[in-house]
Amino acid sequence: MSPSYLAKHVEELKPSGIRKFFDLASKMENVISLGVGEPDFVTPWNVIEASYHSLEQGYTAYTANAGLLELREEISEYLSETFSLTFNPENQVLVTVGASQAIDLALRAIIEQGDEVIVVEPCFVSYSPAVSLAGGVPVPVSAKAENEFKILPEQVEAAITSRTKAIVLCSPNNPTGTVLSKEELAAISEVVKKHDLIVLSDEIYAELSYDEMATSIAAVEGMIERTVVISGFSKSFAMTGWRLGYAAGPKEIMEAMTKIHQYTMMCAPTMAQHGALEALRNGNDSVRDMKTSYKQRRNFVVKALNEMGLSCHLPGGAFYVFPSIKETGYSSEEFAQKLLEEERVAVVPGHVFGDSGEGNIRCSYATSIKQLDEAMKRMNRFVQKHCK
Ligand code: PMP
Repeated sequence: MSPSYLAKHVEELKPSGIRKFFDLASKMENVISLGVGEPDFVTPWNVIEASYHSLEQGYTAYTANAGLLELREEISEYLSETFSLTFNPENQVLVTVGASQAIDLALRAIIEQGDEVIVVEPCFVSYSPAVSLAGGVPVPVSAKAENEFKILPEQVEAAITSRTKAIVLCSPNNPTGTVLSKEELAAISEVVKKHDLIVLSDEIYAELSYDEMATSIAAVEGMIERTVVISGFSKSFAMTGWRLGYAAGPKEIMEAMTKIHQYTMMCAPTMAQHGALEALRNGNDSVRDMKTSYKQRRNFVVKALNEMGLSCHLPGGAFYVFPSIKETGYSSEEFAQKLLEEERVAVVPGHVFGDSGEGNIRCSYATSIKQLDEAMKRMNRFVQKHCK
């Protein structure tokens, strides 16, 4: 088929840089992958069972477009208890096909052609393409390694123009694991309010924060009116394949998002919604156990990386570490490529998460301590051989 049939703005999108390493690794034997961004745990059994039972009981039809009301009520209660946020489950909560769809819908609901959206990098690879697909212009702002990848309010302010509509924030962050404190979020909020912006706050890793519970920017005074909270079940409940997430925010934005969702998706999968209901009602113990395990792994990996000479801050959340590889003299792409070829350890080069990620690599510690131990031994051997 002639390439001219393709929409130009789609053709211009670059494929995700993470894919390349998965493809390479999948052709090799004995590879330890620290590349994947998903839990190594299986979904808690009670959640699986609840989903089975819903099918047995004949819940096989569509739900309301916005999702099961019971689930929206449960989400609203969770957000209230955890972050002191008040959202009406009737018209301020939308159940989506993963947090991914929530991000897409939020952007499509607010962006007009040419609107600018500030994207704080390094970040999850989907934000900028989603902005472009919605007709907007992504404006990357680089959080710096020397600030433990925390974005500063003055950096946000410097990127604002008359076309800026929104900013996408993610704390705890993928790929850096960095968590922004309440004070840091409050300082960014001042700039956001001054320039009348909307915040898309991706909080999918909030439950996976290890030192203190992450806070939501929506909880800062005057922010609930201008924040769309995005979250989901993939990470904290080990439910990536279930494809279930949600958004909560101002009524007008949520209604607009629901309208798009209604025409393009109808509703999120019904059986997954029944599982999610059980996850929120009775999943706390499972989350606590997985979190204990992640924290142990985080501490193990950060210590091992620093000992081998790759400086790495202790990230407060998610399940990634983002050590510097500048000491080796390689670019992050070269480092990842050689490490895979020579020692069969797959990591993701930092540049795929944005320019400020160059000089670092992302290692996921969502794998067993045994695997992590072996991976760290291999990586140490590699670093000692190549370090200048
Ligand atoms: N946001 C972030 C920061 C992520 O890391 C991911 C998954 N890698 C997502 C959103 C997408 O999550 P979901 O599976 O709910 O679509």
